[in-house]
Amino acid sequence: MALFVLKFGGTSVKDIERIKNAASKVAAEAKLGHKIAVVVSAMAGVTDKMIEYCNGISPVHDMREHDAVVSTGEQVTAGLMAMALQQRGLNARSWMGWQIPLCTDSNHNKARITDINAASLRDRIEQGEIAVIAGFQGISEDQSITTLGRGGSDTSAVALAAALKADRCDIYTDVDGVYTTDPRITSKAHKLKRISYDEMLELASLGAKVLQTRSVEMAMRHGVSVQVLSTFTNAIGSEYPGTLVTNEETTMEQRTVTGIAYSLNGAKITLIDVADTPGVAAIIFGALARAGINVDMIVQTSSESGTTSITFTVEKNDLDRSLHILESERPKIKYTNLLADKDIAKISLVGLGMKSNPGIAAKMFETMAEKKINIQAIETSEISISVLISEEYTELAVRALHSAYGLDKS
Ligand code: ASP
Ligand code: MG
Repeated sequence: MALFVLKFGGTSVKDIERIKNAASKVAAEAKLGHKIAVVVSAMAGVTDKMIEYCNGISPVHDMREHDAVVSTGEQVTAGLMAMALQQRGLNARSWMGWQIPLCTDSNHNKARITDINAASLRDRIEQGEIAVIAGFQGISEDQSITTLGRGGSDTSAVALAAALKADRCDIYTDVDGVYTTDPRITSKAHKLKRISYDEMLELASLGAKVLQTRSVEMAMRHGVSVQVLSTFTNAIGSEYPGTLVTNEETTMEQRTVTGIAYSLNGAKITLIDVADTPGVAAIIFGALARAGINVDMIVQTSSESGTTSITFTVEKNDLDRSLHILESERPKIKYTNLLADKDIAKISLVGLGMKSNPGIAAKMFETMAEKKINIQAIETSEISISVLISEEYTELAVRALHSAYGLDKS
């Protein structure tokens, strides 16, 4: 018999009815004789509420206590889920991160898992007990509760699947799999049966919200097969109705572009007439890095006149802070003008087939040209191409590209 980790996200445990429904899926797997660990998120909206409470005390607060508060949502659902399983006559108990222990570094609010001592957890699962684990939380070396960043329960689930050497990690969510693009943007998007780790990682980091990026990294590193599936159908994971995220070799479909992601999280900053001398980029990006600001796309224009323009994107949340930093560094950077634009979108094509197929980028630019969409910046990786465009064209661009690359459902 197999060992599965089943993870239920916030919408899947939104209220008592949903928790009971999730418990019925766990029960169905247990009935087939499988050993099971369940990982739960907080009820939808609860984590946001907790963050709001913390900010209500003060927008600037101690992050150790922040995690003590914010991690509680998962404790509630773990207890309720264990009860719901017991109600069905199953042997189940809840586990908080510290009880396992799931050890992390002490980077509160975005802690990384350092070790999972799964010995006692595994023993009890082997004896037939269903382990219901609070996702998102861990414990640091100094015995403080930590949390793994928004969406972190995905990472908890995959990490536990690796530690328990589970046969598969099923992620139950409100969509029934990974789609070629966001089905809310085009009804022609279709569900992928399989997708490689690399493609999923790229899609997740470029804006697809199905899985937390770190969970995909973790799955890839440990070779955990992850399945994304819907809680709102009758199917269960053993029936393979979702999308399987797995090794490249086993993804069968040969395609150049697998999916299209978009992100509206970015804001664009342009520095005009920056001195074109060594060290200037280091001053700009060094100052932003010291403030913990992540920079995404960077474009520098060529310079004949001795000055150049530098354009880059940061997260929208970091825009005001970035502008403030750049203003205070102005004497050193010596630009003439500082521009900011929040209304931008990054549209990305992802596909393993890009490695060996020329012309993918050209087709993307032609498609944008046909729709008269101006490209503000371009970025490529081995298996992706992204363009920065005005936010108002997001849907138009995604739909046009979806058709252009033959992804429309027939
Ligand atoms: N409850 C946490 C969040 O809302 C973790 C998770 O659901 O994955 O981000
Ligand atoms: Mg999630």
